[in-house]
Amino acid sequence: MPFISLFKRRTAEGGELKKDRSHIRVGIPKFLNVWSTHRFWIGFLKALGIPAKNIVFSSDTSEEQFREYGKGRIGMDSCYPVKVLAGHIGELLTTKKLDIILAPMVYSLPSFLRGHVVDTLSCTRVPMSVENIKAGFLKECNEFEKHGVKFVNPFVSFAEPHLLPKQLYESLKDALDVSYEEVERAVKKGLEELKRFDSEMRKKTREILEWCAQNNHPCILILARPYHMDPGIGHEIDVEFQSLGYPVVWGQYLPTDKDLMDWLFGAEIEAGIIKSPFDISDVWTSSYSSNTNEIIWGAKFAARFPWITAVVRLSSYECGMDQPTYTPVQKIVEYSGTLYFKFGDLDETRPSGSIRIRVETIDYYVKKYSPHIIERKLKRLEERKVPEGFGVIPPPRNASTST
Ligand code: SF4
Repeated sequence: MPFISLFKRRTAEGGELKKDRSHIRVGIPKFLNVWSTHRFWIGFLKALGIPAKNIVFSSDTSEEQFREYGKGRIGMDSCYPVKVLAGHIGELLTTKKLDIILAPMVYSLPSFLRGHVVDTLSCTRVPMSVENIKAGFLKECNEFEKHGVKFVNPFVSFAEPHLLPKQLYESLKDALDVSYEEVERAVKKGLEELKRFDSEMRKKTREILEWCAQNNHPCILILARPYHMDPGIGHEIDVEFQSLGYPVVWGQYLPTDKDLMDWLFGAEIEAGIIKSPFDISDVWTSSYSSNTNEIIWGAKFAARFPWITAVVRLSSYECGMDQPTYTPVQKIVEYSGTLYFKFGDLDETRPSGSIRIRVETIDYYVKKYSPHIIERKLKRLEERKVPEGFGVIPPPRNASTST
């Protein structure tokens, strides 16, 4: 009967759920690259019928969290952002009354630089960390079983989105009793949600940069890994600068609009130096890691954008991945006359006094040199069409040539 077959088809396409999952509570540790993919997980789980109120993230990293829930769970020497995962899992297990803990092993990441760089892999410690720390909760007895929690750690390749349904289905089919079609639809929703969030963040960053241009105000760019936004990992250095009156933007969410890209990178594309605004091969030939590539691109953006007058680099204790990038990033930034500062080896100790003293010193230099830096960078761009929203301050005629 035509009516019934139409109804059946529409139900399948619309995504009727196999079972009611509205009572299931899923906890996600807020660690490493969950910081850049959390919107995917929210969209994905919601599409599988888990209400938003039942999707629970662990708290921000803190010394107390690690001491209370993570100590004794780590069997390897590691960088600080990996180590703290034990505290996040322990906190979820002990305090949140969950049915499932979902700790994705993120192998590769979605990136706007895709196609212009060799790869978008995560640091190898990112996927490995989950298995390593899970072992710490199994060594004396199975802590997950004891708390009635299923631990699910799918291996996920965001850079190959066609693999995601299979990866997630294999990992979640028993824990959530899902069909492959349900997972496939949920992956699509998750990716849409992540894309929407990402473009909202870029739009907001553009508004901040436009405000800086309209008010001729210096701005600080933080170049770091996404998880340095966690107050316990990045020690709220961004907040310290904001409290001194600086707009602060993060490299992950710099705007990528065409008009802005033409303004900043157009001359080099026309000269054949780079193939596109997102081509980093002129400064970084060993591209393999998504976050690293984006840090390098962020440095190039900062070197060209007039009102970013200082770049602050953050890096964690025992981070081997950041090591080879220090010099290139510093060179790219400083070559343009932009100020560069680094807070390296950040770990659990939060020497707030010394951070504040450094921030105050940086404030002195940013205040002193920003007017010259803005003038010089504007001068370099004076032949190019200023994008809408940035054109209030006319390019200076007699820019200073030294800082
Ligand atoms: S990039 Fe650095 S901080 Fe991040 S997981 Fe790898 S080694 Fe650790």
